[in-house]
Amino acid sequence: MEKLISFLDKNEIEYHENFDISTLSSIRLGCKIKIVIFPKTIKGLVKLLSFLFQLKLNYFVAGNLSNVLFASDPAVPVILTTKMQEEINVHGKLVTVSAGVMLTKLCDFAKKNGLSGIEGLVGIPASVGGAIKNNAGAFGYSVSDRLVKVQAFYNGRVIEIKRNEIKFDYHYSNLKGIVILSATFLFENKKEYDIINMINEFTYIRNSTQPSGFSLGSVYRRVSGKSAGFYIERSGLKGKRVGGLVVASKHSNFFINDKNGSVSDFLRLSSLVENTVLKQYGVALIPEVEKVERDYETFSGSTYSF
Ligand SMILES: Cc1cc2nc3c(=O)[nH]c(=O)nc-3n(C[C@H](O)[C@H](O)[C@H](O)COP(=O)(O)OP(=O)(O)OC[C@H]3O[C@@H](n4cnc5c(N)ncnc54)[C@H](O)[C@@H]3O)c2cc1C
Repeated sequence: MEKLISFLDKNEIEYHENFDISTLSSIRLGCKIKIVIFPKTIKGLVKLLSFLFQLKLNYFVAGNLSNVLFASDPAVPVILTTKMQEEINVHGKLVTVSAGVMLTKLCDFAKKNGLSGIEGLVGIPASVGGAIKNNAGAFGYSVSDRLVKVQAFYNGRVIEIKRNEIKFDYHYSNLKGIVILSATFLFENKKEYDIINMINEFTYIRNSTQPSGFSLGSVYRRVSGKSAGFYIERSGLKGKRVGGLVVASKHSNFFINDKNGSVSDFLRLSSLVENTVLKQYGVALIPEVEKVERDYETFSGSTYSF
């Protein structure tokens, strides 16, 4: 850790020690992390990743933390976040963005440039990197649809991975052990007016079906094509509360942290929901939310094969 800190100081990379990660998480839950690092550029991120690789220091890479629950304390010693990166370059219909750019910002950029193809992703509170890792999607759109390639750090070096070399499925990619640095998308031209109409429609549906408040979005994956919320609601769990966490009344697959809840409240509520649905419907709910616990496999880049 000392070596890491002197590297960060020397290279003027922003970091915070004993950082309360709940402040960055969309559900406002988490724990203290020894070091959280905020590289501002892709160049700075690569320098840092190369250093971590040389030292064989493990770390967790965070996007917008809208799908991660740090479930034990301490969950991981080092987190590096792409949050500060804001690079967007356009060449005709090809747009390259740094991994930390938020999807909503990318949607806005595309709209202003008359570029269509990701309208349905508006409102997903994800970074481009986290969205690609999870193949985020909504309303029949997936982030992988328009993806051409990613630039990534893998096994000590920067590589380019083409779309067809990556396996994507429903809210899944096989990009494990890889840090996405940037991504290139190919859009199509459309009138700004038409793009705005679609974005407005998707935003309206999202706002009328999903609750606001601190959450991690859908807690569970779809079950044989059916929403997990269907089983949760039919099991009479809507509005069920454990401490500061409650099953949202607007959308039963969302847990809302509305009263200063804790990670333990979240875990107890999820056990209650899983056990009740299993008992009533014989359905084992599969979490969509990624739990990061003490034995979580962080990566130094050398332990995975791609
Ligand atoms: C209100 C709300 C609504 C939501 N709606 C949707 C929806 O409609 N559709 C949907 O699919 N999801 C939805 N989600 C879930 C969430 O936004 C997605 O899972 C998203 O892909 C997570 O992106 P993130 O940047 O927050 O990633 P994080 O939560 O920070 O990380 C998720 C995973 O990606 C990895 N990761 C992050 N950045 C990188 C990187 N640069 N390189 C490699 N790995 C990386 C992390 O290590 C972690 O494994 C919603 C969440 C909320 C809170």
